[in-house]
Amino acid sequence: MQNNNPIPVGRIDLLLDELNRQRIGEDTVMQCKVCWYVYDPAAGCPEWDIPPGTPFNDLPDTFTCPDCGNDKTCFLPHQE
Ligand SMILES: [Zn+2]
Repeated sequence: MQNNNPIPVGRIDLLLDELNRQRIGEDTVMQCKVCWYVYDPAAGCPEWDIPPGTPFNDLPDTFTCPDCGNDKTCFLPHQE
């Protein structure tokens, strides 16, 4: 059998991650894919003393989901 999939699965995950990041804008609402907590830039995050108007990409790298404790990589753009 010939391998028709030249891109390793891990590589595809990285590409999807990259695409998701590019879709994150100043006012993109983000959702934790683990517990469905929603981060709304317009509201900020009182649990982390994040003031309203803070884009998701400007959150500190130490930011974790206030509900389940997973880091920023667990967040995806919220689908309306
Ligand atoms: Zn969470």
